[in-house]
Amino acid sequence: MAEAAPLQANMRLVLDGAALVANWRVLDRLSGAASAGAAVKADGYGLGAAEVVKRLSGAGCRDFFVAHWGEAQALAGKIDPARLAVLHGIAPGEEAAARAGPAVPVLNSAEQIARWRDADGGRCHVMIDTGMSRLGLDWRDDVAGLCAGLDIDLCMSHLASADENSAQNAQQLERFEQVRHGVKAQRYSFANSAGIALGNAYHFDATRPGLALYGGVPCDALAEHIRPVMRLETRILQVRHVRAGDSIGYGATFAAEHDIRTATLALGYADGFKRALSSIGAFRCGDARLPILGRVSMDLTCIDLAAAPDLGEGDWIAANLLLPEVQAATGISQYEWLTQIGRRFDRIWVD
Ligand SMILES: *Cc1c(COP(=O)(O)O)cnc(C)c1O
Repeated sequence: MAEAAPLQANMRLVLDGAALVANWRVLDRLSGAASAGAAVKADGYGLGAAEVVKRLSGAGCRDFFVAHWGEAQALAGKIDPARLAVLHGIAPGEEAAARAGPAVPVLNSAEQIARWRDADGGRCHVMIDTGMSRLGLDWRDDVAGLCAGLDIDLCMSHLASADENSAQNAQQLERFEQVRHGVKAQRYSFANSAGIALGNAYHFDATRPGLALYGGVPCDALAEHIRPVMRLETRILQVRHVRAGDSIGYGATFAAEHDIRTATLALGYADGFKRALSSIGAFRCGDARLPILGRVSMDLTCIDLAAAPDLGEGDWIAANLLLPEVQAATGISQYEWLTQIGRRFDRIWVD
């Protein structure tokens, strides 16, 4: 008797490690004299932080950024703790654990700084808010006074509109320049992915790309440089002959005008394959485009097989999901497409 084949997920994310590394290298080069780090929060924007860190470390990337301490803990042993930053800073009571922990906190408020001093926290980073009103010391406050005597590695700020040709970019830069001179730090850091494309004035010592590493294209200037990293593949669960007049899926939003051959695929909106793709998204087979018919369901999606008569049950098929295109088609940002990719995929790295 033949040995039973292992049961596998009917969906896989095929992740191109060479493209990830190439994207980091080009962002590092475009960062000029600054060195590019990597934002790996939200599990490496959904792709898997541990695998991302392994590949980028191997390519020479040194600085990594996560949002939560739990994310830092998950990377313990994979990154020099001095080069892993926790953007959310420290909540009351976390000082001792943070000091001994797997990463360096980014202090965001006068209160956090006071608690860090009381705990003899040591090396830290500091975030200055220059116009986003989110996290960080207000640039109009006595930032120099608040930071005096702290052992600061990165003094940073974050751009609100780097992906737009906005006057806010220059305004934030001016504020950061004004404030940072009063803050003694090892290094200064300002630009995210799109900020890198704004030019040398925005680079300082370290840049913090996220989106573009993973194949997102936040602005036209980066389009020619960035390669896609992720490909969604799924299996055909069933092939059907849908008759003229039959409808497909919830709400019967598609009705066949003539007899068609369709495939039902093993993924849906629970996998981050959003309902916004209903009736507008597609899969592909070679050069053939296979449009989605009707609504995307939680675990299933139906497509038209007319352009790919040879496909049958069990075959694998790839989604047409280029991040900038799918953002334009659905209005859902590339950040959301990446970070909401589901957990049911097998994540398969090639290279
Ligand atoms: C998420 C984040 C980044 C990365 O931004 P991208 O737009 O994904 O390049 C950089 N810096 C901070 C503070 C962030 O929160």
